[in-house]
Amino acid sequence: MGKKTQHCLLLLLCLSGLVPCSAAVVFWTAVVDISYANSNNQTVDKYCECGMYGRNSPLEKASGIVTLPKGDPKGCGPDPVYNRNETSPPWIALIKRGNCTFSEKINAAKRQGAAGVLVYNLDGSGNSTTHMAHSDAAGIVAVMIGNIQGMEIFKLVKNGTDVQMLIDVGSPHGPWMDSYWLYFLSIAFFVVTAAAVTYFVFISANRLYILNRHRRTERKLKNEAKKAIKRLQVRTLKRDDEETTCDSHMCAVCIESYRAGEVVTVLTCDHIFHKACIEPWLLERRTCPMCKCDIMKALGVEDEMKEDISTDSPPDVTVVTVAGGEPLYEVPLTDRASPDPERHQHLYDNRAFEGDSQPARG
Ligand SMILES: [Zn+2]
Ligand SMILES: [Zn+2]
Repeated sequence: MGKKTQHCLLLLLCLSGLVPCSAAVVFWTAVVDISYANSNNQTVDKYCECGMYGRNSPLEKASGIVTLPKGDPKGCGPDPVYNRNETSPPWIALIKRGNCTFSEKINAAKRQGAAGVLVYNLDGSGNSTTHMAHSDAAGIVAVMIGNIQGMEIFKLVKNGTDVQMLIDVGSPHGPWMDSYWLYFLSIAFFVVTAAAVTYFVFISANRLYILNRHRRTERKLKNEAKKAIKRLQVRTLKRDDEETTCDSHMCAVCIESYRAGEVVTVLTCDHIFHKACIEPWLLERRTCPMCKCDIMKALGVEDEMKEDISTDSPPDVTVVTVAGGEPLYEVPLTDRASPDPERHQHLYDNRAFEGDSQPARG
């Protein structure tokens, strides 16, 4: 991962509030580069990204000759701790952890003009480092390295080798770098994606369902209307019918007078209209254009449709029994469209209407 990408990632995570940006959570590694001449006078160059910047250290480069404290390697004694001063060439203090606080060690080196401080960990701690807190010693590069690396440099310097050191900024590390966090983030990503997909599927299914229901309802209404229209009385006007002789009778849909030979439909409310005019009207509106009478209700078509839906596969014969007794009677349902005998009767009445010269009102 490039340094720029890491900076962006850090910034993004900080802005999004995912990670609290305290120094305790985010830390930066330091690249520690040393070079010295060995016993054969060959230049040895070694580097590792094994350091960790202190919490209060500026994230900057530092370079100079590695310098040990005069006496105690922990650098805690009274001033002057080092045989250096501000006029010396740039130098970096190498101090062992322990005895006094990080701030005290760092400040002692700072007072004598060190370019930076490298603290190495206690004996037996291997390569491990800690995130130093040194709030009283800010403004100087302070990096911690492991005991093994620190001891190696210490021995070289102790033996009189001039070790040149360069400390450089490495990469940021935080909770998102841990495998635990990667695991957590991938699960979170998966959950969010799954939720989004589920939501999308649900919304689509719901829309499809509503659309289907709407179509079904529309089809059902049309079927009802067609069924009702079939039951309406239809007659052909004759020359001496009242509708053709009197100009006050006209079709309320097309506003034209009736002529002999025209086919008219008589609604349940006795209002008459041209068959060609009233049928499209009824398919859309289901009511008489003049008195608003609902022909579906008048013909009982709505109730029949409900019965049709509730009995998907009705038997040919309905056996009606009294509680626990013998079958009382059987009703053959050959004409399922009108199972109600009264309604049946009404239909016949309606058919008998045909040819009746009773004038339409209105
Ligand atoms: Zn008409
Ligand atoms: Zn009417």
